[in-house]
Amino acid sequence: MFTVTLRILRRAPRLKFHIQAMATQSIQNEPLFDYTKDSPERVKLEEALKNLDGQCEEIPVVIGGEKIFTGNFRYQVLPYDHQTKIAKYHLADKDLLNKAIENALSVREAWDNRPLEEKAQIFLKAANLLSTKYRPQIVAATMKGQAKNVWQAEIDAAAELIDFYRFNAKFALEVVNYKPIDTQESINTMVYRGLEGFVAAVSPFNFTAIGGNLAGAPAMMGNVVLWKPSDTAMLAGWTVFKVLQEAGVPDGVIQFVPADGPVFGDTITASPDLAAINFTGSVKTFQHLWKQVGNNIQNYNTFPRLVGECGGKNYHLVHPSADIESVVNGTIRSAFEYSGQKCSAASRMYVPDTMWPQVKERLLEEHKKIKMGPADDFTVFMSAVIDDKSFGRIKAYLEHAKSSPNLNVVAGGNCDDSKGYFVDPTVIETTNPDDKIMQEEIFGPVLAVYAYPEKDSKDIIQLVNKTSPFALTGAVFAQDQTFIEEASKALRQSAGNFYINDKCTGSVVGQQPFGGARLSGTNDKAGGPHYCLKWASPVAIKDTKVPLTQWKYPHMKE
Ligand code: NAD
Repeated sequence: MFTVTLRILRRAPRLKFHIQAMATQSIQNEPLFDYTKDSPERVKLEEALKNLDGQCEEIPVVIGGEKIFTGNFRYQVLPYDHQTKIAKYHLADKDLLNKAIENALSVREAWDNRPLEEKAQIFLKAANLLSTKYRPQIVAATMKGQAKNVWQAEIDAAAELIDFYRFNAKFALEVVNYKPIDTQESINTMVYRGLEGFVAAVSPFNFTAIGGNLAGAPAMMGNVVLWKPSDTAMLAGWTVFKVLQEAGVPDGVIQFVPADGPVFGDTITASPDLAAINFTGSVKTFQHLWKQVGNNIQNYNTFPRLVGECGGKNYHLVHPSADIESVVNGTIRSAFEYSGQKCSAASRMYVPDTMWPQVKERLLEEHKKIKMGPADDFTVFMSAVIDDKSFGRIKAYLEHAKSSPNLNVVAGGNCDDSKGYFVDPTVIETTNPDDKIMQEEIFGPVLAVYAYPEKDSKDIIQLVNKTSPFALTGAVFAQDQTFIEEASKALRQSAGNFYINDKCTGSVVGQQPFGGARLSGTNDKAGGPHYCLKWASPVAIKDTKVPLTQWKYPHMKE
Protein backbone atom coordinates (compact mmCIF):
# COMPACT_ATOMS: atom_id res chain seq x y z
CA MET A 1 0.00 0.00 0.00
CA PHE A 2 2.87 2.36 0.77
CA THR A 3 4.19 2.07 -2.76
CA VAL A 4 0.71 2.53 -4.19
CA THR A 5 0.19 5.54 -1.95
CA LEU A 6 3.50 7.05 -2.93
CA ARG A 7 2.75 6.57 -6.59
CA ILE A 8 -0.56 8.36 -6.15
CA LEU A 9 1.12 11.12 -4.18
CA ARG A 10 3.68 11.66 -6.95
CA ARG A 11 0.81 11.91 -9.41
CA ALA A 12 -1.18 14.29 -7.26
CA PRO A 13 0.85 16.99 -5.53
CA ARG A 14 -2.30 18.83 -4.37
CA LEU A 15 -3.63 15.70 -2.70
CA LYS A 16 -0.23 15.22 -1.03
CA PHE A 17 -0.39 18.73 0.33
CA HIS A 18 -3.87 18.16 1.73
CA ILE A 19 -2.90 14.92 3.40
CA GLN A 20 0.18 16.40 5.03
CA ALA A 21 -1.88 19.34 6.15
CA MET A 22 -4.49 17.00 7.59
CA ALA A 23 -1.91 14.98 9.50
CA THR A 24 -0.23 18.02 11.05
CA GLN A 25 -3.16 20.41 11.33
CA SER A 26 -5.35 20.11 14.39
CA ILE A 27 -8.88 19.77 13.09
CA GLN A 28 -11.32 21.94 15.03
CA ASN A 29 -14.90 21.15 15.98
CA GLU A 30 -17.36 22.84 13.65
CA PRO A 31 -18.36 26.25 15.07
CA LEU A 32 -22.08 26.47 15.89
CA PHE A 33 -24.48 29.06 14.53
CA ASP A 34 -26.82 30.52 17.14
CA TYR A 35 -29.52 31.57 14.62
CA THR A 36 -30.40 34.83 16.33
CA LYS A 37 -33.17 36.83 14.67
CA ASP A 38 -32.19 38.39 11.32
CA SER A 39 -28.72 36.78 11.32
CA PRO A 40 -27.75 35.63 7.79
CA GLU A 41 -27.85 31.97 8.83
CA ARG A 42 -31.35 32.41 10.32
CA VAL A 43 -32.59 33.98 7.09
CA LYS A 44 -31.24 31.05 5.03
CA LEU A 45 -32.67 28.50 7.44
CA GLU A 46 -36.09 30.15 7.43
CA GLU A 47 -36.06 29.96 3.66
CA ALA A 48 -35.12 26.26 3.77
CA LEU A 49 -37.94 25.59 6.25
CA LYS A 50 -40.38 27.44 4.03
CA ASN A 51 -39.29 25.38 1.05
CA LEU A 52 -40.37 22.26 2.93
CA ASP A 53 -43.84 23.61 3.65
CA GLY A 54 -46.45 21.75 1.65
CA GLN A 55 -43.78 19.43 0.21
CA CYS A 56 -43.80 15.68 0.45
CA GLU A 57 -40.52 14.49 -1.03
CA GLU A 58 -40.61 11.17 -2.84
CA ILE A 59 -37.64 9.09 -1.74
CA PRO A 60 -36.46 6.05 -3.68
CA VAL A 61 -34.31 3.05 -2.86
CA VAL A 62 -30.89 3.63 -4.46
CA ILE A 63 -28.88 0.63 -5.63
CA GLY A 64 -25.68 1.10 -7.61
CA GLY A 65 -26.73 4.71 -8.22
CA GLU A 66 -30.07 3.65 -9.74
CA LYS A 67 -33.16 5.17 -8.15
CA ILE A 68 -35.88 2.58 -7.67
CA PHE A 69 -39.45 3.61 -6.83
CA THR A 70 -40.80 0.25 -5.71
CA GLY A 71 -44.42 1.29 -5.26
CA ASN A 72 -44.42 -0.16 -1.76
CA PHE A 73 -44.21 3.04 0.24
CA ARG A 74 -44.80 4.67 3.62
CA TYR A 75 -45.00 8.28 4.77
CA GLN A 76 -42.90 10.25 7.21
CA VAL A 77 -45.05 12.81 9.05
CA LEU A 78 -44.28 15.85 11.19
CA PRO A 79 -44.26 14.59 14.80
CA TYR A 80 -45.73 17.92 15.98
CA ASP A 81 -48.46 17.89 13.31
CA HIS A 82 -49.05 14.27 12.38
CA GLN A 83 -51.55 14.98 9.61
CA THR A 84 -48.79 16.64 7.58
CA LYS A 85 -46.67 14.36 5.44
CA ILE A 86 -43.09 15.38 4.74
CA ALA A 87 -41.77 12.38 2.82
CA LYS A 88 -43.07 9.43 0.87
CA TYR A 89 -40.42 6.74 0.89
CA HIS A 90 -40.27 3.52 -1.07
CA LEU A 91 -39.25 0.29 0.61
CA ALA A 92 -36.88 -2.40 -0.60
CA ASP A 93 -38.09 -5.99 -0.24
CA LYS A 94 -35.96 -9.08 0.27
CA ASP A 95 -35.14 -9.49 -3.44
CA LEU A 96 -34.10 -5.88 -3.81
CA LEU A 97 -31.98 -6.08 -0.67
CA ASN A 98 -30.22 -9.13 -2.08
CA LYS A 99 -29.69 -7.20 -5.32
CA ALA A 100 -28.18 -4.36 -3.26
CA ILE A 101 -25.79 -6.84 -1.59
CA GLU A 102 -24.75 -8.25 -4.96
CA ASN A 103 -24.21 -4.82 -6.48
CA ALA A 104 -22.24 -3.63 -3.45
CA LEU A 105 -19.97 -6.66 -3.61
CA SER A 106 -19.30 -5.98 -7.30
CA VAL A 107 -17.72 -2.59 -6.49
CA ARG A 108 -16.08 -3.64 -3.22
CA GLU A 109 -12.61 -4.49 -4.45
CA ALA A 110 -12.13 -1.38 -6.56
CA TRP A 111 -13.26 0.84 -3.69
CA ASP A 112 -11.18 -0.99 -1.10
CA ASN A 113 -8.09 -0.67 -3.28
CA ARG A 114 -8.31 3.09 -3.49
CA PRO A 115 -5.87 4.76 -1.07
CA LEU A 116 -7.32 5.75 2.25
CA GLU A 117 -6.24 9.33 1.62
CA GLU A 118 -8.47 9.54 -1.44
CA LYS A 119 -11.43 8.08 0.41
CA ALA A 120 -10.85 10.46 3.30
CA GLN A 121 -10.86 13.38 0.86
CA ILE A 122 -14.37 12.45 -0.27
CA PHE A 123 -15.67 12.57 3.29
CA LEU A 124 -13.87 15.84 3.96
CA LYS A 125 -15.64 17.22 0.93
CA ALA A 126 -18.96 15.95 2.28
CA ALA A 127 -18.20 17.72 5.58
CA ASN A 128 -17.53 20.96 3.71
CA LEU A 129 -20.76 20.66 1.72
CA LEU A 130 -22.72 20.11 4.93
CA SER A 131 -20.97 23.03 6.56
CA THR A 132 -21.86 25.42 3.73
CA LYS A 133 -24.17 24.69 0.78
CA TYR A 134 -26.42 22.10 2.45
CA ARG A 135 -26.40 23.31 6.05
CA PRO A 136 -29.81 25.02 5.90
CA GLN A 137 -31.40 21.99 4.19
CA ILE A 138 -30.05 19.37 6.57
CA VAL A 139 -30.93 21.45 9.64
CA ALA A 140 -34.43 22.16 8.27
CA ALA A 141 -35.08 18.49 7.42
CA THR A 142 -34.05 17.48 10.95
CA MET A 143 -36.13 20.20 12.61
CA LYS A 144 -39.28 19.25 10.77
CA GLY A 145 -38.91 15.50 10.28
CA GLN A 146 -37.53 14.61 13.71
CA ALA A 147 -39.08 17.53 15.64
CA LYS A 148 -35.83 19.04 16.88
CA ASN A 149 -35.71 22.68 17.80
CA VAL A 150 -33.18 24.75 15.92
CA TRP A 151 -30.35 24.34 18.43
CA GLN A 152 -30.82 20.57 18.71
CA ALA A 153 -30.86 20.26 14.92
CA GLU A 154 -27.76 22.44 14.56
CA ILE A 155 -25.68 20.47 17.08
CA ASP A 156 -26.75 17.18 15.47
CA ALA A 157 -27.31 17.41 11.74
CA ALA A 158 -24.76 20.13 11.08
CA ALA A 159 -22.03 20.17 13.72
CA GLU A 160 -21.85 16.54 14.81
CA LEU A 161 -22.09 15.06 11.35
CA ILE A 162 -19.47 17.46 9.98
CA ASP A 163 -17.23 16.62 12.93
CA PHE A 164 -17.70 12.87 12.40
CA TYR A 165 -16.55 13.09 8.79
CA ARG A 166 -13.60 15.38 9.52
CA PHE A 167 -12.37 13.62 12.64
CA ASN A 168 -12.86 10.15 11.14
CA ALA A 169 -10.56 11.20 8.31
CA LYS A 170 -7.96 12.60 10.67
CA PHE A 171 -8.11 9.67 13.11
CA ALA A 172 -8.00 7.07 10.34
CA LEU A 173 -4.89 8.62 8.81
CA GLU A 174 -3.27 8.75 12.25
CA VAL A 175 -4.04 5.21 13.37
CA VAL A 176 -2.91 3.60 10.12
CA ASN A 177 0.36 5.45 10.51
CA TYR A 178 1.80 2.77 12.80
CA LYS A 179 4.98 1.42 11.21
CA PRO A 180 5.93 -2.08 12.32
CA ILE A 181 9.60 -2.62 13.21
CA ASP A 182 11.99 -3.57 10.38
CA THR A 183 14.99 -5.83 10.92
CA GLN A 184 18.15 -6.33 8.85
CA GLU A 185 16.45 -9.24 7.11
CA SER A 186 12.92 -8.02 6.63
CA ILE A 187 10.75 -5.04 5.92
CA ASN A 188 7.41 -5.05 7.73
CA THR A 189 4.28 -3.19 6.83
CA MET A 190 0.63 -3.12 7.80
CA VAL A 191 -2.08 -2.83 5.21
CA TYR A 192 -5.58 -1.86 6.28
CA ARG A 193 -8.21 -3.60 4.19
CA GLY A 194 -11.95 -3.16 4.32
CA LEU A 195 -13.87 -6.16 5.65
CA GLU A 196 -14.48 -8.95 3.17
CA GLY A 197 -18.20 -8.76 2.54
CA PHE A 198 -20.65 -5.94 3.22
CA VAL A 199 -21.48 -3.85 6.26
CA ALA A 200 -25.12 -3.34 7.25
CA ALA A 201 -25.70 0.08 8.83
CA VAL A 202 -28.98 0.35 10.77
CA SER A 203 -29.73 3.80 12.10
CA PRO A 204 -32.06 5.24 14.77
CA PHE A 205 -34.43 8.18 14.41
CA ASN A 206 -32.97 10.49 16.96
CA PHE A 207 -29.70 11.67 15.40
CA THR A 208 -29.18 12.58 11.77
CA ALA A 209 -25.44 12.53 12.49
CA ILE A 210 -25.54 8.94 13.72
CA GLY A 211 -27.12 7.71 10.49
CA GLY A 212 -24.49 9.52 8.43
CA ASN A 213 -21.71 8.11 10.57
CA LEU A 214 -22.97 4.52 10.79
CA ALA A 215 -22.80 4.34 7.00
CA GLY A 216 -19.96 6.81 6.43
CA ALA A 217 -17.24 5.55 8.77
CA PRO A 218 -17.15 1.97 7.40
CA ALA A 219 -17.31 3.28 3.83
CA MET A 220 -14.35 5.58 4.43
CA MET A 221 -12.32 2.60 5.63
CA GLY A 222 -12.89 0.73 2.36
CA ASN A 223 -16.12 -1.11 3.01
CA VAL A 224 -19.32 -1.32 1.01
CA VAL A 225 -22.42 -0.55 3.05
CA LEU A 226 -26.14 -1.19 2.95
CA TRP A 227 -27.63 1.73 4.86
CA LYS A 228 -31.12 1.24 6.26
CA PRO A 229 -32.22 4.66 7.48
CA SER A 230 -34.86 5.05 10.16
CA ASP A 231 -38.48 5.45 8.97
CA THR A 232 -38.89 8.54 11.13
CA ALA A 233 -35.63 10.22 10.05
CA MET A 234 -36.03 9.50 6.35
CA LEU A 235 -35.88 13.00 4.90
CA ALA A 236 -32.69 13.89 6.79
CA GLY A 237 -31.15 10.52 5.88
CA TRP A 238 -31.94 11.07 2.22
CA THR A 239 -30.41 14.56 2.34
CA VAL A 240 -27.19 13.14 3.82
CA PHE A 241 -27.09 10.41 1.18
CA LYS A 242 -27.39 12.97 -1.63
CA VAL A 243 -24.55 15.02 -0.11
CA LEU A 244 -22.36 11.89 -0.02
CA GLN A 245 -23.12 11.25 -3.68
CA GLU A 246 -22.23 14.82 -4.59
CA ALA A 247 -19.01 14.58 -2.57
CA GLY A 248 -17.93 11.65 -4.74
CA VAL A 249 -18.86 8.43 -2.93
CA PRO A 250 -19.05 6.08 -5.93
CA ASP A 251 -22.27 4.32 -6.86
CA GLY A 252 -22.76 1.09 -4.96
CA VAL A 253 -20.38 1.92 -2.10
CA ILE A 254 -23.30 3.07 0.04
CA GLN A 255 -26.65 1.60 -0.96
CA PHE A 256 -29.56 3.64 0.35
CA VAL A 257 -32.16 1.03 1.25
CA PRO A 258 -35.21 2.10 3.24
CA ALA A 259 -36.86 -1.16 4.29
CA ASP A 260 -39.10 -2.67 6.89
CA GLY A 261 -36.83 -3.34 9.91
CA PRO A 262 -37.41 -7.10 10.27
CA VAL A 263 -37.26 -7.65 6.47
CA PHE A 264 -33.89 -5.90 6.43
CA GLY A 265 -32.63 -7.78 9.50
CA ASP A 266 -33.74 -11.18 8.20
CA THR A 267 -32.17 -10.60 4.78
CA ILE A 268 -28.78 -9.28 5.83
CA THR A 269 -28.27 -11.91 8.53
CA ALA A 270 -29.12 -14.65 6.01
CA SER A 271 -26.37 -13.54 3.62
CA PRO A 272 -23.05 -15.40 3.83
CA ASP A 273 -21.36 -12.12 2.88
CA LEU A 274 -22.42 -10.23 6.00
CA ALA A 275 -19.15 -8.83 7.37
CA ALA A 276 -20.51 -6.48 10.05
CA ILE A 277 -23.53 -4.78 11.50
CA ASN A 278 -23.18 -1.18 12.59
CA PHE A 279 -26.29 -0.60 14.66
CA THR A 280 -27.68 2.15 16.86
CA GLY A 281 -31.11 1.77 18.39
CA SER A 282 -32.88 -0.15 21.10
CA VAL A 283 -31.49 -3.09 23.05
CA LYS A 284 -34.34 -5.28 21.90
CA THR A 285 -33.54 -4.83 18.21
CA PHE A 286 -29.80 -5.29 18.71
CA GLN A 287 -30.29 -8.44 20.76
CA HIS A 288 -32.58 -9.78 18.06
CA LEU A 289 -29.98 -9.12 15.34
CA TRP A 290 -27.24 -10.66 17.48
CA LYS A 291 -29.36 -13.81 17.94
CA GLN A 292 -29.99 -14.02 14.20
CA VAL A 293 -26.25 -13.80 13.55
CA GLY A 294 -25.67 -16.49 16.17
CA ASN A 295 -28.24 -18.77 14.56
CA ASN A 296 -26.54 -18.36 11.18
CA ILE A 297 -22.95 -18.45 12.42
CA GLN A 298 -22.03 -21.51 10.36
CA ASN A 299 -23.11 -19.87 7.14
CA TYR A 300 -20.81 -16.84 7.09
CA ASN A 301 -17.59 -16.39 5.11
CA THR A 302 -16.13 -14.41 7.98
CA PHE A 303 -17.12 -13.75 11.60
CA PRO A 304 -19.42 -10.72 11.38
CA ARG A 305 -18.43 -7.84 13.62
CA LEU A 306 -21.30 -6.57 15.70
CA VAL A 307 -21.18 -2.97 16.79
CA GLY A 308 -24.23 -1.74 18.66
CA GLU A 309 -25.00 1.38 20.62
CA CYS A 310 -28.24 1.04 22.53
CA GLY A 311 -30.25 2.64 25.28
CA GLY A 312 -29.51 4.16 28.65
CA LYS A 313 -30.97 4.93 32.05
CA ASN A 314 -28.69 7.81 32.73
CA TYR A 315 -28.24 9.32 36.16
CA HIS A 316 -27.47 12.56 37.93
CA LEU A 317 -26.06 11.83 41.38
CA VAL A 318 -26.11 14.90 43.60
CA HIS A 319 -23.94 15.19 46.72
CA PRO A 320 -24.75 17.59 49.58
CA SER A 321 -21.76 19.71 48.51
CA ALA A 322 -23.10 20.23 44.96
CA ASP A 323 -23.73 23.60 43.34
CA ILE A 324 -27.53 23.77 43.12
CA GLU A 325 -27.75 25.98 40.04
CA SER A 326 -25.55 23.61 38.02
CA VAL A 327 -27.76 20.71 39.12
CA VAL A 328 -31.00 22.49 38.21
CA ASN A 329 -29.94 23.95 34.86
CA GLY A 330 -28.03 20.84 33.82
CA THR A 331 -30.98 18.63 34.70
CA ILE A 332 -33.55 20.74 32.84
CA ARG A 333 -31.39 20.55 29.75
CA SER A 334 -30.41 16.94 29.91
CA ALA A 335 -33.80 15.51 30.94
CA PHE A 336 -36.00 17.59 28.63
CA GLU A 337 -33.98 18.72 25.63
CA TYR A 338 -35.22 16.96 22.51
CA SER A 339 -38.05 15.69 24.73
CA GLY A 340 -35.70 13.31 26.52
CA GLN A 341 -35.11 11.38 23.30
CA LYS A 342 -31.34 11.37 23.50
CA CYS A 343 -29.84 8.04 24.44
CA SER A 344 -27.79 10.02 26.99
CA ALA A 345 -30.74 11.94 28.51
CA ALA A 346 -30.90 12.11 32.31
CA SER A 347 -33.87 10.09 33.51
CA ARG A 348 -33.08 9.27 37.14
CA MET A 349 -31.74 11.64 39.75
CA TYR A 350 -30.55 11.09 43.31
CA VAL A 351 -30.65 14.11 45.62
CA PRO A 352 -29.98 14.26 49.39
CA ASP A 353 -33.28 14.62 51.27
CA THR A 354 -31.92 17.71 53.01
CA MET A 355 -31.35 19.38 49.67
CA TRP A 356 -34.34 18.13 47.68
CA PRO A 357 -36.84 20.84 48.83
CA GLN A 358 -34.53 23.55 47.53
CA VAL A 359 -33.63 21.69 44.32
CA LYS A 360 -37.29 20.89 43.73
CA GLU A 361 -38.37 24.48 44.19
CA ARG A 362 -35.80 25.70 41.68
CA LEU A 363 -36.58 22.87 39.24
CA LEU A 364 -40.30 23.71 39.33
CA GLU A 365 -39.55 27.40 38.87
CA GLU A 366 -37.54 26.69 35.74
CA HIS A 367 -39.94 23.99 34.58
CA LYS A 368 -42.70 26.62 34.33
CA LYS A 369 -40.62 28.54 31.76
CA ILE A 370 -40.27 25.63 29.34
CA LYS A 371 -42.00 26.36 26.07
CA MET A 372 -43.21 23.46 23.98
CA GLY A 373 -44.57 23.71 20.44
CA PRO A 374 -43.85 23.13 16.74
CA ALA A 375 -40.18 22.45 16.18
CA ASP A 376 -39.89 25.12 13.49
CA ASP A 377 -40.93 27.82 15.97
CA PHE A 378 -37.57 29.34 16.94
CA THR A 379 -38.76 30.22 20.46
CA VAL A 380 -39.52 26.68 21.64
CA PHE A 381 -37.31 24.63 23.92
CA MET A 382 -38.92 21.29 23.09
CA SER A 383 -41.40 19.80 20.66
CA ALA A 384 -43.32 16.56 20.20
CA VAL A 385 -41.99 13.03 20.62
CA ILE A 386 -41.28 11.10 17.48
CA ASP A 387 -44.36 8.94 16.82
CA ASP A 388 -47.49 7.23 18.12
CA LYS A 389 -45.55 4.22 19.40
CA SER A 390 -43.28 6.40 21.45
CA PHE A 391 -46.20 8.50 22.68
CA GLY A 392 -48.05 5.37 23.81
CA ARG A 393 -45.02 4.00 25.64
CA ILE A 394 -44.37 7.24 27.52
CA LYS A 395 -48.05 7.66 28.32
CA ALA A 396 -48.06 4.21 29.96
CA TYR A 397 -45.21 5.33 32.26
CA LEU A 398 -47.15 8.49 33.16
CA GLU A 399 -50.18 6.36 34.01
CA HIS A 400 -48.01 4.07 36.11
CA ALA A 401 -46.72 7.14 37.96
CA LYS A 402 -50.22 8.42 38.62
CA SER A 403 -51.50 5.08 39.92
CA SER A 404 -48.51 3.94 41.97
CA PRO A 405 -48.42 4.74 45.71
CA ASN A 406 -44.60 5.02 45.52
CA LEU A 407 -44.70 7.76 42.95
CA ASN A 408 -45.76 11.38 42.99
CA VAL A 409 -45.92 13.55 39.88
CA VAL A 410 -44.61 16.97 40.91
CA ALA A 411 -44.54 18.63 37.49
CA GLY A 412 -46.09 17.85 34.10
CA GLY A 413 -47.58 14.38 33.78
CA ASN A 414 -49.93 15.09 30.87
CA CYS A 415 -49.78 14.36 27.19
CA ASP A 416 -51.87 15.12 24.13
CA ASP A 417 -51.67 13.57 20.67
CA SER A 418 -54.59 15.38 19.04
CA LYS A 419 -52.34 17.40 16.71
CA GLY A 420 -48.81 16.24 17.46
CA TYR A 421 -47.32 13.75 19.89
CA PHE A 422 -46.83 16.18 22.76
CA VAL A 423 -45.74 15.03 26.21
CA ASP A 424 -45.25 17.50 29.05
CA PRO A 425 -41.83 17.64 30.64
CA THR A 426 -42.48 15.59 33.76
CA VAL A 427 -40.80 15.29 37.16
CA ILE A 428 -41.75 12.35 39.38
CA GLU A 429 -40.66 11.76 42.96
CA THR A 430 -40.27 8.18 44.09
CA THR A 431 -39.95 6.70 47.55
CA ASN A 432 -38.85 3.43 46.03
CA PRO A 433 -35.46 3.67 44.31
CA ASP A 434 -36.10 0.31 42.63
CA ASP A 435 -39.37 1.27 40.99
CA LYS A 436 -39.34 0.48 37.26
CA ILE A 437 -39.35 4.21 36.59
CA MET A 438 -35.78 4.26 37.99
CA GLN A 439 -34.68 1.19 35.99
CA GLU A 440 -36.21 1.19 32.52
CA GLU A 441 -35.45 3.40 29.55
CA ILE A 442 -38.52 5.60 28.89
CA PHE A 443 -37.04 7.68 26.06
CA GLY A 444 -39.26 10.66 26.73
CA PRO A 445 -39.27 13.85 28.84
CA VAL A 446 -39.69 12.06 32.16
CA LEU A 447 -37.33 12.54 35.09
CA ALA A 448 -37.65 10.35 38.20
CA VAL A 449 -36.10 11.62 41.44
CA TYR A 450 -35.19 9.71 44.58
CA ALA A 451 -34.49 11.91 47.60
CA TYR A 452 -32.05 9.75 49.57
CA PRO A 453 -31.23 10.11 53.29
CA GLU A 454 -28.24 12.45 53.39
CA LYS A 455 -26.43 10.24 55.89
CA ASP A 456 -26.38 7.49 53.22
CA SER A 457 -24.48 9.48 50.64
CA LYS A 458 -21.80 6.77 50.42
CA ASP A 459 -24.21 3.83 50.11
CA ILE A 460 -26.13 5.64 47.46
CA ILE A 461 -23.23 5.20 45.04
CA GLN A 462 -23.77 1.43 45.00
CA LEU A 463 -27.50 1.92 44.52
CA VAL A 464 -26.84 4.08 41.46
CA ASN A 465 -24.42 1.49 40.13
CA LYS A 466 -26.78 -1.46 40.51
CA THR A 467 -30.24 -0.04 39.79
CA SER A 468 -30.36 -0.31 36.03
CA PRO A 469 -28.95 -2.79 33.49
CA PHE A 470 -27.65 0.08 31.34
CA ALA A 471 -24.30 1.88 31.51
CA LEU A 472 -24.37 4.71 29.02
CA THR A 473 -23.95 8.08 30.74
CA GLY A 474 -23.94 9.41 34.28
CA ALA A 475 -23.00 12.54 36.18
CA VAL A 476 -21.86 13.35 39.67
CA PHE A 477 -22.45 16.82 41.08
CA ALA A 478 -20.26 17.61 44.10
CA GLN A 479 -17.65 20.05 45.34
CA ASP A 480 -16.28 17.54 47.81
CA GLN A 481 -13.21 16.09 46.08
CA THR A 482 -13.09 12.97 48.23
CA PHE A 483 -16.65 12.11 47.25
CA ILE A 484 -15.88 12.76 43.59
CA GLU A 485 -12.94 10.36 43.75
CA GLU A 486 -14.91 7.68 45.59
CA ALA A 487 -17.87 7.98 43.22
CA SER A 488 -15.65 7.95 40.12
CA LYS A 489 -14.03 4.74 41.32
CA ALA A 490 -17.20 2.97 42.43
CA LEU A 491 -19.14 4.01 39.33
CA ARG A 492 -16.34 2.98 36.93
CA GLN A 493 -18.53 0.37 35.19
CA SER A 494 -21.76 2.35 35.37
CA ALA A 495 -21.22 4.64 32.37
CA GLY A 496 -19.22 4.84 29.15
CA ASN A 497 -19.47 8.63 29.36
CA PHE A 498 -19.04 9.97 32.88
CA TYR A 499 -19.40 13.62 33.85
CA ILE A 500 -18.24 15.54 36.89
CA ASN A 501 -20.25 18.68 37.64
CA ASP A 502 -21.84 18.65 34.22
CA LYS A 503 -25.04 17.25 32.75
CA CYS A 504 -24.87 13.75 31.31
CA THR A 505 -25.70 14.76 27.71
CA GLY A 506 -23.80 16.74 25.10
CA SER A 507 -20.78 14.66 24.11
CA VAL A 508 -18.73 16.25 21.34
CA VAL A 509 -16.81 14.39 18.63
CA GLY A 510 -13.09 14.30 19.42
CA GLN A 511 -13.72 15.60 22.95
CA GLN A 512 -15.87 12.88 24.54
CA PRO A 513 -15.95 9.84 22.22
CA PHE A 514 -19.32 8.24 22.83
CA GLY A 515 -20.66 4.84 23.86
CA GLY A 516 -21.68 2.68 26.78
CA ALA A 517 -21.33 -0.85 28.09
CA ARG A 518 -23.56 -3.40 29.86
CA LEU A 519 -26.87 -3.31 27.94
CA SER A 520 -26.00 0.09 26.47
CA GLY A 521 -23.85 -1.45 23.79
CA THR A 522 -20.45 -2.58 22.61
CA ASN A 523 -18.82 0.74 23.56
CA ASP A 524 -16.85 1.23 20.35
CA LYS A 525 -16.71 4.99 20.86
CA ALA A 526 -17.88 6.79 17.76
CA GLY A 527 -16.13 10.14 17.54
CA GLY A 528 -12.89 8.70 18.87
CA PRO A 529 -9.64 7.54 17.28
CA HIS A 530 -10.21 3.79 17.54
CA TYR A 531 -13.64 3.64 15.94
CA CYS A 532 -12.29 3.46 12.40
CA LEU A 533 -10.19 0.39 13.20
CA LYS A 534 -13.40 -1.48 13.84
CA TRP A 535 -14.02 -1.16 10.10
CA ALA A 536 -10.63 -2.37 8.95
CA SER A 537 -9.12 -5.80 8.69
CA PRO A 538 -5.36 -5.29 8.86
CA VAL A 539 -2.78 -7.49 7.13
CA ALA A 540 0.75 -7.61 8.51
CA ILE A 541 3.25 -8.16 5.69
CA LYS A 542 6.78 -9.42 6.23
CA ASP A 543 9.00 -9.02 3.18
CA THR A 544 12.22 -10.99 3.73
CA LYS A 545 15.30 -9.82 1.83
CA VAL A 546 17.77 -12.49 2.94
CA PRO A 547 17.57 -16.07 1.66
CA LEU A 548 17.01 -18.82 4.22
CA THR A 549 20.04 -21.09 3.93
CA GLN A 550 19.16 -23.84 6.36
CA TRP A 551 16.33 -25.18 8.48
CA LYS A 552 18.32 -26.33 11.56
CA TYR A 553 18.77 -24.18 14.69
CA PRO A 554 22.16 -23.70 16.47
CA HIS A 555 21.03 -25.54 19.61
CA MET A 556 20.57 -28.70 17.55
CA LYS A 557 24.33 -29.07 16.93
CA GLU A 558 25.61 -32.31 18.57
P1 NAD B 1 -35.19 0.92 17.21
O1 NAD B 1 -34.44 -0.22 17.79
O2 NAD B 1 -36.67 0.86 17.25
O3 NAD B 1 -34.81 1.12 15.69
C1 NAD B 1 -33.48 1.29 15.28
C2 NAD B 1 -33.36 0.85 13.84
O4 NAD B 1 -33.52 -0.56 13.77
C3 NAD B 1 -34.43 1.46 12.93
O5 NAD B 1 -33.83 1.79 11.70
C4 NAD B 1 -35.41 0.30 12.78
O6 NAD B 1 -36.17 0.35 11.60
C5 NAD B 1 -34.46 -0.87 12.75
N1 NAD B 1 -35.05 -2.18 13.04
C6 NAD B 1 -36.15 -2.48 13.77
N2 NAD B 1 -36.33 -3.81 13.81
C7 NAD B 1 -35.32 -4.37 13.10
C8 NAD B 1 -34.93 -5.69 12.79
N3 NAD B 1 -35.63 -6.75 13.21
N4 NAD B 1 -33.83 -5.88 12.05
C9 NAD B 1 -33.09 -4.83 11.61
N5 NAD B 1 -33.41 -3.55 11.88
C10 NAD B 1 -34.50 -3.32 12.62
O7 NAD B 1 -34.63 2.26 17.93
P2 NAD B 1 -35.11 3.77 17.69
O8 NAD B 1 -36.43 3.95 18.36
O9 NAD B 1 -34.95 4.20 16.30
O10 NAD B 1 -33.99 4.55 18.53
C11 NAD B 1 -34.12 4.77 19.88
C12 NAD B 1 -33.17 3.88 20.64
O11 NAD B 1 -31.85 4.10 20.18
C13 NAD B 1 -33.16 4.20 22.12
O12 NAD B 1 -33.12 3.01 22.86
C14 NAD B 1 -31.86 4.99 22.28
O13 NAD B 1 -31.32 4.96 23.57
C15 NAD B 1 -30.99 4.32 21.27
N6 NAD B 1 -29.87 5.17 20.86
C16 NAD B 1 -28.63 4.88 21.33
C17 NAD B 1 -27.54 5.68 21.00
C18 NAD B 1 -26.17 5.38 21.51
O14 NAD B 1 -25.21 5.92 20.99
N7 NAD B 1 -26.03 4.54 22.53
C19 NAD B 1 -27.75 6.77 20.16
C20 NAD B 1 -29.03 7.03 19.67
C21 NAD B 1 -30.08 6.21 20.03
